[in-house]
Amino acid sequence: VSRCMSTDGTGASAASVEVDTAHTKSHSFQAETTKLLDIVAKSLYSEREVFVRELISNAADALEKLRYLQTTGESIEQPDEPLQISITTDEEAGTFSIEDTGIGMSEEELVENLGTIARSGSKAFIEKLGETATGNAQARDNIIGQFGVGFYAGFMVGTDITVYSKSYMPEVHGNMWHSTGHGSYDIAPAKHVRRGTKIVIKLRDDATEFAKGDRVQEIITKYSNFVGFPITVNGSRI
Ligand code: ADP
Ligand code: MG
Repeated sequence: VSRCMSTDGTGASAASVEVDTAHTKSHSFQAETTKLLDIVAKSLYSEREVFVRELISNAADALEKLRYLQTTGESIEQPDEPLQISITTDEEAGTFSIEDTGIGMSEEELVENLGTIARSGSKAFIEKLGETATGNAQARDNIIGQFGVGFYAGFMVGTDITVYSKSYMPEVHGNMWHSTGHGSYDIAPAKHVRRGTKIVIKLRDDATEFAKGDRVQEIITKYSNFVGFPITVNGSRI
């Protein structure tokens, strides 16, 4: 069992997450995903800061779904948890983290949603890629710009990504998902994961600017002005 501190984005420490590493399951990414990730990691895409927008948009979607469930009378884990997005950066550790209190994902959903390319944009991306000379870096970057790569955009700036997620369904346990973006990912059960999803990106040496709070605030102001939920960066409301 490995322990790791989780914070609620306000600076206060929450109960520490306990990952049951003895029950880690290793999975291979779907072939198309591996192909996409190779491209994303090699990309010289100049606007890689858009990864922030992609992750905020996923968090907002998850919160929107939770807000809907609240109107249906379904039983929800931690029902009084405020619907919000908390971003934290750590210059010393070289990390960027984003946490939401949305619907979260079960183990099956982590496999389905983060292990395969379900979104139509990424499918179109892969198809377009097939038509493009793979050696042509500029053409690849144009495609990234045109389609966006959703969650996988995190690998434009990160060497590895850890996701802690707990479904809104009270009986479903939390999990940790981890990958370096090279062909496979691991999932292990985890205790004390709060409802929703927390994504921690260990930044590449050439992407440490995203571990700076003011840089991240600037990006959010540029791209994510119309998110319908409160966003904080290192505890300050945007
Ligand atoms: P898209 O948002 O277009 O579906 P993404 O690659 O951005 O594609 O995300 C893939 C899927 O992963 C989403 O559709 C969603 O089901 C799941 N997902 C990603 N981020 C979150 C999150 N923060 N909370 C819950 N589910 C998420
Ligand atoms: Mg998305």
